[in-house]
Amino acid sequence: MPRPIEALIHTAALEHNLTRARAAAPDAKVWAVVKANAYGHGIERAYEGLRGADGFALLDIAEAERIRALGWRGPVLLLEGAFELRDLELCSRLDLWHVVHCSQQIDWLAAHKTHAPHRVFLKMNSGMNRLGFTPTTYRSTWTRLNALPQVGEITLMTHFSDADGPRGIAQQVGAFEAATRDLPGERSLANSAAILRHGLHADWVRSGIMSYGSAPDFPEHDIAHWDLKPTMTLRSKLIATQQLTAGDCVGYGSSFVAESAMRIGIVACGYADGYPRHGASGTPVLVNGVRTRTVGRVSMDMIAVDLSPTPEAGIGSEVTLWGEGPNGARLAIDEVARAAGTIGYELMCALAMRVPVRAVE
Ligand SMILES: *Cc1c(COP(=O)(O)O)cnc(C)c1O
Repeated sequence: MPRPIEALIHTAALEHNLTRARAAAPDAKVWAVVKANAYGHGIERAYEGLRGADGFALLDIAEAERIRALGWRGPVLLLEGAFELRDLELCSRLDLWHVVHCSQQIDWLAAHKTHAPHRVFLKMNSGMNRLGFTPTTYRSTWTRLNALPQVGEITLMTHFSDADGPRGIAQQVGAFEAATRDLPGERSLANSAAILRHGLHADWVRSGIMSYGSAPDFPEHDIAHWDLKPTMTLRSKLIATQQLTAGDCVGYGSSFVAESAMRIGIVACGYADGYPRHGASGTPVLVNGVRTRTVGRVSMDMIAVDLSPTPEAGIGSEVTLWGEGPNGARLAIDEVARAAGTIGYELMCALAMRVPVRAVE
C-alpha cells in the first residue's frame, strides 16, 4: 500500500469560486490566473473547474502550451510577457497575448516578424515598483508601442500592492487614471483582493487566489465571509499512536513536553509533502473531522497530533491537514498558513511532487 497521504482537487469548488468572481465583477471579463501550475492545483485539473473563465493568465510559455493542448482557443495572457525575443515566435504561433513591462520587450517586438499583430497589455508601475513603466513614461511608451506594425490592440494594465490591506488602492488608481485618461483601449487592474474589497473592476479582472478557496484578506475576512469553497484538500492517516505521561517529549528537539497524560497520533505527512515546518505546536488539524492541534516539530515525513478530543481515533483514522474533512468538517488553508506564519498561496503552491493528487467533483 502506498503512503496514505493524498491531495484532492475539488473541481466543483473551483467552478463555484469563479462564479463568485463573476458575481463580484458582473460587467468585467474574468481572467482565471493559473500561474504556478494553477497555484499548485495542476493546470489540467484546474481547467476542469475554471473553463468558464474568459481567459487564462499565467507566466510560463510551457503552461500556455498546456492550456492550448487542452483545447482552449480563447485568450491566454503571459503576465510577465516575453523573457527573450524567441518567446514572441511562440506568442505568434499559439496566439498568446502578452504583457509589456519594459523597453527591452518593445525592442524585441520591433524586431519580431509576424503576420498577425499581437494583443499586448501595457503595464504601468503605479507604485509597487516591481514591473512596468512609471506614470510619467507611460504615455510616450504607449505611443511607441502603438506605432509598431507588430502590435494590435493595447490594453492598459496595472497591479496593486495593497488591495488586501489598510493602505488600499486609491493612490495607485489615482496615478493610473491620471496617466491614462485619454488613452483608448481596455483596462485591467484588479486581483482577487481588489475584486472582493474594492468595487473597481474595469474591463478585465484577474482572479487568482479567490478561485482557489483562500481569502486574500485573511484573517480580517475568511472564506465563509466571501462565500468561497476550499479547492484543495490535503489528507492523510494516522500510522501510529503513543500514550504519553506528564513530562514526556515529542519529536526532534523535544520542543513539546506533555503537561499531563495524553494520547497523540502520528500522521503520515511532513515537510517533504509541503506541510509547513514553521508551525509551532498548535497548528489546527482535523482527526476524523474533529478539530485538534499539532504537537512538536514537523518532521520530513511525520507530524504528531493531540488526540485528546478524539479518544476513538487509532491507526488508519483520517487526518485532514487542510480542506474538506469527513462529515462536512472543514479546515481553511488560511488558518493553517497563519499558524505557520505564511499565507494560503504559499501552502498550495508548495504541495510536494511526491503527494499523489486527484481531481474529484
Ligand atoms: C498573480 C497575479 C494576479 C492574481 O493575484 P491574486 O492575489 O492571486 O488574485 C493578478 N495579477 C497579476 C499581475 C498577478 O501576477
